[in-house]
Amino acid sequence: MKGYNTLFPMGFHYTGTPLFAMSKRLRDGDPEIIETFTKIYGISETTLEKLKDPKAMASYFREDIRKGMMKIGFSIDWRREFTTIDSLYSRYIEWHFQTLNQKGLITKGTHPVAWCPNDKSPVGVVDTMGDVEPDIGESYLVKFQKNGVVYPTSTLRPETVFGVTNLWINPEAAYVRAIVDGEPWVVSQEAIEKLQHQNRKITVEREFQVVELLWKTVRNPVTGDEIPVLPGSFVEPDNGTGVVMSVPGHAPYDYQALTDLKKRYANSPEGQIMLRVEPVSIIRLEGFSDLPAADLIGKFKVKDQNDPHLEHATQELYSKEFHDGIMKQNTGSYSGMPVARARETIVQELAKEGKIETLLELRNAPVVCRCGTKCLVHILENQWFINYGDPEWKKLAHKCLDQMAILPEELRGEFNYTIDWLRERACARAVGLGTKLPWDKSWTIEALSDSVVYMAYYILSKYFTKDWVVFKKFEKDTSKLPDAFFNFTLLGEGTVDSVAKQTGIPKRILNGIRSEFQYFYPVDMRHSARELVSNHLSFYIFHHSTLFPEKQWPKGIVANGFVLMEGSKMSKSLQNIIPLRQGIAKFGADPVRVGVMATAELGQDVDFSEGLAASIGERLAGLIGQARKLGVKKTAGKSKLSMLDRWMISRLNYAVQTATNALDRLRVREAINIILYQLDNDISWYNRRLGLKKTKSDNRGRILRNVLETRTRMLAPLAPHTAEEIWSRIGNKGFVVQADWPEETENEKGPAADRAEALIRQVLDDTGEILKATGITPKRIAYYTAADWKWQAYLKALKAAEEKMRQGDFIKDVMGDLHLRSLGKAAADYAAKAIQQANQMPDEMRQARLRDGITDENAIFADSVDFYQREFKCSVNVWKEGDQSVNDPKGRARMSEPYRPAIYLE
Ligand SMILES: [Zn+2]
Repeated sequence: MKGYNTLFPMGFHYTGTPLFAMSKRLRDGDPEIIETFTKIYGISETTLEKLKDPKAMASYFREDIRKGMMKIGFSIDWRREFTTIDSLYSRYIEWHFQTLNQKGLITKGTHPVAWCPNDKSPVGVVDTMGDVEPDIGESYLVKFQKNGVVYPTSTLRPETVFGVTNLWINPEAAYVRAIVDGEPWVVSQEAIEKLQHQNRKITVEREFQVVELLWKTVRNPVTGDEIPVLPGSFVEPDNGTGVVMSVPGHAPYDYQALTDLKKRYANSPEGQIMLRVEPVSIIRLEGFSDLPAADLIGKFKVKDQNDPHLEHATQELYSKEFHDGIMKQNTGSYSGMPVARARETIVQELAKEGKIETLLELRNAPVVCRCGTKCLVHILENQWFINYGDPEWKKLAHKCLDQMAILPEELRGEFNYTIDWLRERACARAVGLGTKLPWDKSWTIEALSDSVVYMAYYILSKYFTKDWVVFKKFEKDTSKLPDAFFNFTLLGEGTVDSVAKQTGIPKRILNGIRSEFQYFYPVDMRHSARELVSNHLSFYIFHHSTLFPEKQWPKGIVANGFVLMEGSKMSKSLQNIIPLRQGIAKFGADPVRVGVMATAELGQDVDFSEGLAASIGERLAGLIGQARKLGVKKTAGKSKLSMLDRWMISRLNYAVQTATNALDRLRVREAINIILYQLDNDISWYNRRLGLKKTKSDNRGRILRNVLETRTRMLAPLAPHTAEEIWSRIGNKGFVVQADWPEETENEKGPAADRAEALIRQVLDDTGEILKATGITPKRIAYYTAADWKWQAYLKALKAAEEKMRQGDFIKDVMGDLHLRSLGKAAADYAAKAIQQANQMPDEMRQARLRDGITDENAIFADSVDFYQREFKCSVNVWKEGDQSVNDPKGRARMSEPYRPAIYLE
């Protein structure tokens, strides 16, 4: 509509584990997924059987989604449709990865990854339940000892080892003695698997009965103190090593556990041991007692070990002590050191003595693979990574981002952060659909690596369909399609002659593909989901910046929120999912489109509601009703436009201007508000002012047709089906989506018309309020507009306020005018009032009124007498103050002012 050819393509991403996991759940008879498919999606039993094959499931939903997209009216070029497991797409991804490899951006190395032990494969955000990005972090293992056996305790605060009073183990868990890298360790059964995945050499020697460990003592590696091992049912055996050091002076959890335990064992033999365990204070913290843990337990009113407030207390103390804590005298050489520095130093010193090690953990555990297995950290050796840590590549990505439009703009920071922060990222998986790594076919390229340059493939995919020579020649054996084909069509490298010779593809076609690519690429706006900023969308920038020349770098990204249903996230458990096609069947395509777009600005979650969709449906039907009423016949009316007609045209111009402006910035909600709602308000005012009666000079039909036609053009991108219907009903040829976007029309007298209508509406409201307040049913209403001398004084006052003239000087100036002086006190009083008003007026309004000069209010109101008589069902007179003929029984006329006529009722 704005004169550009726009390409909207669509493809289907089959890569990865989700389809695999979903069809497996179906094969396993998972009742939840069966219910979702049958109850929500209405899939029949026989079809369900077929969906047990992952590819069949993919095809089913691809078809369903495609039909939905057609029904809702997306103008997609379906010739370019493809899936990421099409053989020629795989060939394209091979080229993509070969190219990255040649640029040195693929590395082979040993790095920690999040891992599913069941699939024996790395996992990323797309492979986990609930799409959780696994977060790998490091904790410390401080090694307590007893008779040469190590009790490694996992902690984030190794400097608190000075304050350890006891260890905790879970009395219900299984513990083992194992030789770990040559050293005998006591850890939980669960910790063994974790340690193995981090390349520790492990031989498990035997399992313990927990009684063998409890109430015995171990030695603190720093202080040498003998401390007891106590039962802590809160210890999670799969967190860390299942052995935990207890620092009750500075850890609220430990303090509370100790308090609970002392109560519990008060009257038993173990009570003797408990009596000796007292919190030790090792960190000084301004504003706290010796035992900050106890302070916070009091502050948060923690009741017992299971109180959720313990977590808040822990967080607060952790951060306060880290930033402001000072090590006390009982910490030896660390005495007087800030906590942060003490932590660094003690880690170095203990490492030298072999008393501390590190352990990698998933900080946001539990992270669950789509196959249902809990993920852990695995050190993957000789695995393939994309090296997003390459400094030169980061520079290119930043350069690309700096030139892009990001909507909403506040997301730019997150992109910058991600580009800086990304490091090596595993790019292959052992399981799932997709393209094999070209040089190591035992691995499949994963979903967030094969989906970042597919936009360029939309140009190729049109030629990769069965009518085209490329498909016929290479679809069966894609290995014969050389890299030179992609280098020429996408990068412009090599010559058409040599590529034609190598491939046997006619030059005409090769040149055609190349020029089509140059015509459409780069992508002007990529619309995607808000939560993909830190992965997919950042990768998209990275890969384009290194693969393509600068002029084909992406130009912009738009991030959208979720669609909520009546305020909550759509979820199976809430039974509030409406599949697209069902939504369309229920509300119609256009109400769904507008209903989704009308409730949020860019980047926010939209909130779909059935009530809103239904009311939008009625409003759209109302527009079709207007079209039916206006019909195709051109109204003959060519008579002179009235002030009111000009006002309506002015409102339309305003709507065009603001809606265009809003859509230019993709503020769709604002545009809908103007096009769908505000214009209706204006039309109803216009009709109300005109009344039902038709007069000879009535331009109504012509004006309203003009409004509807212009509005229909603006409605076309939002509600295309409705817009086409209206377009054809009012007698236009062709499609409105191919018509031009409306432009503002010349309307010199618009501002004067706006002023006149504003005045008329204000007086209507004022009169209504007086009637309401007094309860009068009037027989007659009289309006008195201000005398000319008042206008003179008023404008002088505006000017004086503009020039910041002193009030006294202004009054002198006014009274210097012979005519005004002759009016005496009335003029002086009014001048004083006018200057006061002018001084208090907003600058913009004052300047506008000065520019407008004297408004012929008498003419405006005289023209509206009919209207007021209809509205108030009584006779209405209009006079100007000071006129010879004025009928003013109560002397109201002298109260009139410019922009504020006096009102008299009887
Ligand atoms: Zn798994």
